[in-house]
Amino acid sequence: MNETVSFEDRVRQHYPKAVTMSTFREKIRDVLANGHSIDLAKVLLATSLCADDIVAVRGPEVPSHKTKLKHDFLGPFSMGGLAGLPYSGLTGMSTIGHHIPEKGSVLIAYGPHIGISDQGEPGKLLRPGQRCESSACGALTLALKHFQSSPGYQPAYDDDDTELMTLERRLLPFRGHILTADNPLKAATDCAYNIIHGLIGRYLRSQKKVFECEYIALVGGIIINTGYQHDDYIDLRHLSVRRAQEL
Ligand SMILES: [Zn+2]
Repeated sequence: MNETVSFEDRVRQHYPKAVTMSTFREKIRDVLANGHSIDLAKVLLATSLCADDIVAVRGPEVPSHKTKLKHDFLGPFSMGGLAGLPYSGLTGMSTIGHHIPEKGSVLIAYGPHIGISDQGEPGKLLRPGQRCESSACGALTLALKHFQSSPGYQPAYDDDDTELMTLERRLLPFRGHILTADNPLKAATDCAYNIIHGLIGRYLRSQKKVFECEYIALVGGIIINTGYQHDDYIDLRHLSVRRAQEL
């Protein structure tokens, strides 16, 4: 291992445009408050992020450099689940529209996540209180394992595992692309991002009548989770702020 390579360099070997989560939080606050004169006290945050505790982490045990976007706004309303797909669907999006404060705005933050170990390995992470690294995103890793198990693998309907089944069904059209990629997990994560971005846009257009608010801000990207001594990162893929009537 080359000791002169910083951890940030290791992250950027995989995601060259990645920025730290604290830089990203400042950027969002600046774009909303200074770029569009939005009253941040009246912004409802809605998220479509993985259920994984390393994404949702909060509380007194969390070091300040791991503080999440959700501390800055009302909410969040959580649309997400395994791998960050918006499983609450059209109903969830409609409900978000109904929960925005009077003369307020909404910020919808979405995307999958991937761990990067201290050694720079994507898909791996040492979780707090554990001695061995584990997978992140675990759901995407499992879907990938199923795809690799046999060329004819089809996700079976299972009432007790609906999110994984839905995730695999959404990813299935991209199986060939994912399995032949240099890094299949990174490819699956990119596909998950594109799927989530597409669904959020479609759900929003479908439910636009209930968004009688000032602004709708969308921010999408791949969250890069790291060990506890480092800040997390984000590879920002989309940032837009529109008047509600422009939907
Ligand atoms: Zn996950």
